[in-house]
Amino acid sequence: MNIILFGPPGAGKGTQSKYLVKKLNSFQISTGELLRNEIKNNTDIGKKIINDINDGKFVSDEIVNDLIQEYIFDPIKKNRLIFDGYPRSVSQAKNLNKLIERSNQKIDFIFFLNVKKDVIIKRIENRKVLENRSDDNLNTILKRYDKYMETTKPVLEFYSKNPNFKEIDGNQEIDEITRKIDAFINV
Ligand code: AMP
Repeated sequence: MNIILFGPPGAGKGTQSKYLVKKLNSFQISTGELLRNEIKNNTDIGKKIINDINDGKFVSDEIVNDLIQEYIFDPIKKNRLIFDGYPRSVSQAKNLNKLIERSNQKIDFIFFLNVKKDVIIKRIENRKVLENRSDDNLNTILKRYDKYMETTKPVLEFYSKNPNFKEIDGNQEIDEITRKIDAFINV
């Protein structure tokens, strides 16, 4: 089963991805994590993207599309992909469709975790204490939220016509969100 988790930063995509990875014996593709690793390892890509990440701006489609490609075509991961934080633009969504088709796969579910801004701010403030992420200060959070609203609306529209698109109230507790996801995938 291939699943896309969609929603603003702090919506709980990472938490639910980790749950789904265990449950479905699948693989999480978190573009945020892949990009942070590039920075940590001080690679050429890492040097190019560090300012954008710390400013809450999106990294170029070209860089992100390149990073996910090898996961999609890895035979071990075939039909066992959990996308977390990708796609974030219509051009990424179209690129994903193309790669999924070319690798003879399909997307089984697109879950949109819809969360209010004030709930997200509280969650990210807590995560900052727990994980110490450099892009987790309040200013960056607000920029990331606004950037999300501005660029992902068209992606939502793009996916909302798909019968596998399911909106879930992401303001709820983690376990309740998990229960809703389970209800969809267990049928
Ligand atoms: P995340 O961990 O998903 O919240 O992502 C952290 C940061 O990585 C974002 O604020 C963006 O700067 C960058 N990023 C992650 N995924 C993408 C993507 N699909 N396209 C562009 N930038 C991304």
